[in-house]
Amino acid sequence: MFNRREFLGLVGAVTSAAPALLRGAQGGEWGSPVFDLHFHLRGQPAANITHLDGAGITKANLLTRAASSDQVRAVQAAAPDRFTWFCSADPSRPEGIDALTQSVKSGARGFGEMKYHLATDGPEFQRAYALAAELRVPILIHFQEVDHFENEGKWSTGFATSFERILKAYPNTTFIGHADAFWANVSADYRNEAAYPSGPIAAGGITDKLLGDYPNLYGDVSANSGNNMLSRDPEFTAGFLRRHQDKLMFGSDCGCTDGHGGGVSQGNNPAASRLAGKCVARETLTVLKRSASADIFRKIVWGNASALLKFSA
Ligand SMILES: [Zn+2]
Ligand SMILES: [Zn+2]
Repeated sequence: MFNRREFLGLVGAVTSAAPALLRGAQGGEWGSPVFDLHFHLRGQPAANITHLDGAGITKANLLTRAASSDQVRAVQAAAPDRFTWFCSADPSRPEGIDALTQSVKSGARGFGEMKYHLATDGPEFQRAYALAAELRVPILIHFQEVDHFENEGKWSTGFATSFERILKAYPNTTFIGHADAFWANVSADYRNEAAYPSGPIAAGGITDKLLGDYPNLYGDVSANSGNNMLSRDPEFTAGFLRRHQDKLMFGSDCGCTDGHGGGVSQGNNPAASRLAGKCVARETLTVLKRSASADIFRKIVWGNASALLKFSA
């Protein structure tokens, strides 16, 4: 028998120091190590680890603003090898471009999430695309054209009409697409009528085509947008995951407290109420697991991000 202090010491070792051993190669709960590409930094270091452990996640990518680099280091120190980091800053401000450059020098492995009221093909975003190529890091972009709240405004406008031109103009930039407009446009019949369209997917949509045609584009299936797309049409989803098995990456964008749906999972967004009370990470891992072979599942939840961001278990 352990006394209480020894027992707590062991629990501490399990949750922070030995993830590779316990959740790595053998795969733990999901049968594969899992990397969450889309995890917003939480204020308390322990809260970050609680969500990973609760949802059975091996490792996650902290998304922060540039000013949070000290907090990132504290979380990384509390749980070595469990967190990578992407940094965002407003590319329409000169100090934003400087902050992005500095963050990569300080260890950020990408830009993101880039969520600004700017045009996808505007000069501000183009500065960030060029800088990402120069620094050889990917850029993760939030595309959204339908408000969740009154007067929210659009984010990275013009995905459907102008993003292909950008993919062509910046062949050395690695783009990671995410959010409502990116995933709704998997269906060819989408015309910005709803944040999260439902029903069967019409083949030949823009996002499907771009993922197939451009080696510099990846997809982050996080949030209600990614989960909704994957849940609309099981037959389509199986083929979509096969087609883009080397381009898709699991992410959660989950706000729940415990990895089991406690607290608020999708920021009280009324249009995303289908995920209220649920852990988005768990829901999306479940749909991916039932829709893909074990090999493809492992690529999407671990292998593709591991190759792109150059980490191991
Ligand atoms: Zn987002
Ligand atoms: Zn969660």
